[in-house]
Amino acid sequence: SSPSSPEAQLRAALLGLAVGDALGVPVEFQSRAARHTDPVVGMRAYGTHHQPAGTWSDDASLTFCLAETIADGFSVRKLAETCCRWYYDNLWTPHGTVFDIGITTREALHKFKSNPGGSPLAGGTDEYSNGNGALMRILPLAFYQTELPLESRFQLIWDVSAVTHGHIRSAIACWLYLEIARHLRSGLAPGEAYTALCRDAPGQLSRLQVPATETDQFGRILSGQLPQLAVTAISSGGYVVHTLEAALWCLLRYSSYPETVLAAVNLGDDTDTTGAVAGGLAGLRYGEAAIPAEWLAALARRADIEDLRQRMAVASH
Ligand code: ADP
Ligand code: MG
Repeated sequence: SSPSSPEAQLRAALLGLAVGDALGVPVEFQSRAARHTDPVVGMRAYGTHHQPAGTWSDDASLTFCLAETIADGFSVRKLAETCCRWYYDNLWTPHGTVFDIGITTREALHKFKSNPGGSPLAGGTDEYSNGNGALMRILPLAFYQTELPLESRFQLIWDVSAVTHGHIRSAIACWLYLEIARHLRSGLAPGEAYTALCRDAPGQLSRLQVPATETDQFGRILSGQLPQLAVTAISSGGYVVHTLEAALWCLLRYSSYPETVLAAVNLGDDTDTTGAVAGGLAGLRYGEAAIPAEWLAALARRADIEDLRQRMAVASH
């Protein structure tokens, strides 16, 4: 299909991500078995975090912080400062408070806040710093500096990740996700985007001198076999590799915005983040018109998101 305008794509991506997040918030941490007996079919109120229907969480908040930073004139330090304004001063919260944050994210923001003259690349670099907290907020980079050569593009993505997640695995996950987003933006269908990723990414990762042990972590994605896996083989916890697998699996197995995000949320566990990561891509693929109007109507701070979208569209030109 022919690609829509950059403005329409940006709006669909931000709204698609926030809606996926909000669908998952009321059932976060609940099991997949619970979703089998009581599947999410639309916006719910209360549940896990006692929030009204349409409340998005840290995933959308930090995505908006990155969009805001791009709109203001991007730097990594400014991004770290903006993320701190979210956690410490309630910037980009849906109803004025932060009710959810990942441990790795909180530690990095605390480290930067305690030493604001220090490096904004405050994210942990050890093996167990590989939660999905950078992947869930990376999507605005699909609209910023997309023409950079491979090496500088990967470095930019790694720097943005490293504000909270410094390990190369998080950077690779973010880069693969943004490659899929790039293909969707160019008008490729999900299956075509995935085929192009599996064809190109292994060689690009080797050009980037990514250790083979790290590329191997993405073997189930890069094998080309991901959509053939049974749902029982798909995990939906907080590990970045699992979240990327789960989101891509939903994108590849379903063929509408609502089916894709509901499938992601109904995998259980880290429902808001899986919903957000899948929802951003599904928004890009199917467009804003494919997002059910009643879900959009329930979304917290719709007008502010629209204003942000306009400011970012101007800045990213
Ligand atoms: P965030 O990434 O949003 O800041 P947390 O640090 O709270 O979130 O959560 C990260 C999740 O990812 C935890 O459930 C943790 O067990 C999981 N995780 C992190 N690193 C790894 C790893 N190397 N292997 C498996 N799971 C991991
Ligand atoms: Mg969340």
